[in-house]
Amino acid sequence: MKLDTRAMRYLASEDWRVLTAVEMGSKNHELVPTPLIEKIARLKGGASGVHRSISALAKVGLIARVKEAKYDGYRLTYGGLDYLALHTHSARKDIYSVGTRIGVGKESDIMIVADNQGTQKVLKIHRLGRISFRTVKSNRDYLKNRASGSWMYLSRLAAMKEFAFMKALLAEGFPVPEPIAQSRHTILMALIDAFPLRQISAVPDPAKLYGELISLILQLAKHGLIHGDFNEFNILIKEIKVTTESGEEALTLEPVIIDFPQMVSMEHQNAEMYFDRDVECIKRFFSRRFHFSSTEPGPFFKDAKRAMKKAGLTRLDATVEASGFTKKMVKDLEVAIREKEAMKAEGKNSDEEEEESEEDEDEDEDPSDDGGEIIIGVANEADDLDADLASKPTEDEV
Ligand code: ADP
Ligand code: MG
Repeated sequence: MKLDTRAMRYLASEDWRVLTAVEMGSKNHELVPTPLIEKIARLKGGASGVHRSISALAKVGLIARVKEAKYDGYRLTYGGLDYLALHTHSARKDIYSVGTRIGVGKESDIMIVADNQGTQKVLKIHRLGRISFRTVKSNRDYLKNRASGSWMYLSRLAAMKEFAFMKALLAEGFPVPEPIAQSRHTILMALIDAFPLRQISAVPDPAKLYGELISLILQLAKHGLIHGDFNEFNILIKEIKVTTESGEEALTLEPVIIDFPQMVSMEHQNAEMYFDRDVECIKRFFSRRFHFSSTEPGPFFKDAKRAMKKAGLTRLDATVEASGFTKKMVKDLEVAIREKEAMKAEGKNSDEEEEESEEDEDEDEDPSDDGGEIIIGVANEADDLDADLASKPTEDEV
């Protein structure tokens, strides 16, 4: 799904308030009943003001009306959650405008954004738990086991986990983009001016780069971590111009690692499998793309674990728990990520997936979308609904 910010400017502050009320209501209600929205939003204009906002929001697809046997109500859509997150980043002055989409995976949208100084950043919007209609049939079991609306919860967990790890890794000196802020299912981070390894056809010294990547895997392991998706898409290669002593210009390549929601601990029950898979991924890629194979076998999990114990470095595998994750949250996220992985592996060659990605590309050709910048900013600090509504009673109290 694509982030569409076109309606953003036209929302009045009451609309934002009502949108936030629907979000708050959905913490305990699959379908948020209108009277509850009214209670939480408490607009000056009373119920009629709320109804006007509800219509406006539904019209642009930020909330959706659902009719159920017992009562009618509204639920927040992905678009609605995107808007709320953008609004928060904007109120914090971290984002002023939204530019082009640079990446779209099955689990995320990656957008270039800028603050009001013009500094470009990357906004990663997590989309975990999203299921396309075409694959619904094959995913019926998956759906059955998910409370509706859990995409919101799972995507938020993925963002929280990724943000916590990025902070911890940066603090330990790992080459990762600087994490700037997190709101709901989104992370704001520094833009890395680099291409993914996937897009690089030749490097001057494959052995050197290979050595550096393997050493990153081992360095992570020493801190108790396995990336879990250490592949050519998740390694960005920065080209740095250096001047040698003899005055010649040369390029050095510096890897930057991204994409952390699936990180696992070296103590995980399948740690060895994940570790070997990461190593294998790099080996396979270097052999295919650069025709380079290391003469050394391994590295092996056993040795990496021994080195971890001996090194006595700060262990980062407890980062997620330390950032407020409960055991249940860890488990929920892991289950969702593994299911998604399995679905991807299964569905890779299916027509359904092909069709879907074509459709995605069509979307990009929307003539009204020239890839230009869209200014979102009307929000200011006082407008931060997160803070504002936090002091209001929730449905538990009303
Ligand atoms: P996903 O979980 O969908 O794989 P990633 O975090 O791997 O998302 O990002 C997808 C793509 O977006 C990357 O392969 C990379 O090309 C680009 N990208 C992500 N983060 C950054 C960043 N901070 N700077 C530059 N490009 C990025
Ligand atoms: Mg990725």
